[in-house]
Amino acid sequence: MTRMFSICTLLALVCVAHCGFAEDASISKPAKTSIASVIQPEPLRKHVEYLASPELEGRGSPKSRELAARYLVQEFKRLELKPLWDDQFMQKVPGPREPDGSLPIWGLNVGGMLVGTDPQLRDEIVILGAHYDHLGVRDGRIYPGADDNASSVAMMLEVARQFAAGKRRPRRSIAFVGFDLEERLLWGSKWFAAHPPWPLTRVKLFITADLLGRTLGDLPFPAVFVMGSEHGTGMTSLLKTLSPPPGLELARLGADIVGTRSDYGPFRDEKVPFLFFSTGEHPDYHSPQDTADKLNYTQLAAISNVVLHVMRHSADTATPPAWITTPLPDLEEARTLHRITELLLQADRQGTRKLTGIQNYIVTQARDKMAQILKKGELSPDDRAWLIRSAQAMLFSVF
Ligand SMILES: [Zn+2]
Repeated sequence: MTRMFSICTLLALVCVAHCGFAEDASISKPAKTSIASVIQPEPLRKHVEYLASPELEGRGSPKSRELAARYLVQEFKRLELKPLWDDQFMQKVPGPREPDGSLPIWGLNVGGMLVGTDPQLRDEIVILGAHYDHLGVRDGRIYPGADDNASSVAMMLEVARQFAAGKRRPRRSIAFVGFDLEERLLWGSKWFAAHPPWPLTRVKLFITADLLGRTLGDLPFPAVFVMGSEHGTGMTSLLKTLSPPPGLELARLGADIVGTRSDYGPFRDEKVPFLFFSTGEHPDYHSPQDTADKLNYTQLAAISNVVLHVMRHSADTATPPAWITTPLPDLEEARTLHRITELLLQADRQGTRKLTGIQNYIVTQARDKMAQILKKGELSPDDRAWLIRSAQAMLFSVF
């Protein structure tokens, strides 16, 4: 998926000062909540190294996907989660037909939950999900899928460990789901949403992630993009109050900018408030080079701690998010896009990321337009239509 944002505060300040978009200091800002660093890089690395190991053959064939599914079941059992389907941790998913018309393959969604402590709220559910399947073996080469999506599965397992080990259990119930067959048109999450263990009206928030261990286009942008907050009441203001661990930035974007790129699609279609975390596509995306040694585990730990905080807040808050059909424009999108275009043009000048003539034109146009919007200090509906078109043009032609 998409990636955007991240660079140290210093660079941010330099850019803000240089570009002249410093925020109005007279506007008082809400106090920031620091995110505790309870999840550490090493346990995350262990999960990724196993899931992306040659033994798992890229988690594409039924046999290798089942190995990955069994790993999740073993972890869920160790954490003493409750199986999501009666006494079963696995939901069998009849897959789509193969392109040659042969028998459908099967998939396995894996799910476990922690039952909430509050008798009034425990029937409400917050889900954290991540797809664990990948592309398997093609032309004799393994596609390890370390970033896509062993990274997010590792995050989910370590968030689950924190909840399971914590003395203070969440008030609402929390479900953890490993989705299968995402690489086949989101088949696993579509099946889950069509055959959920409880009515989806009881799901107050769905959080998923895809690609968390690299940066967008390998740019020096230490950010995780957070999409979907525009569709849930209180979500954008919650994100605004968070002060992420050092070295990580949170960059909000509307999910419509990237379309349906991961498992939030089927939940969004049912009007379940959602958040989608991603650090974005990079040159090794969907290639045999997406290996475990290339991930930034410090960044992955920082993002995992942010997700843990958001999960905890959402499971305990008196007022869960409600669906917003028509989101308000968010100037942060222009700020994010401006940042990405500046970094791309800088990389082009430095020769670390050469742009073709047409790419340079698209990026420069977008940069100038975003600068204009930021100077104006507001994002009109027309501006936003322009922003979506130019972000999509960059996604297709540059990344
Ligand atoms: Zn993916």
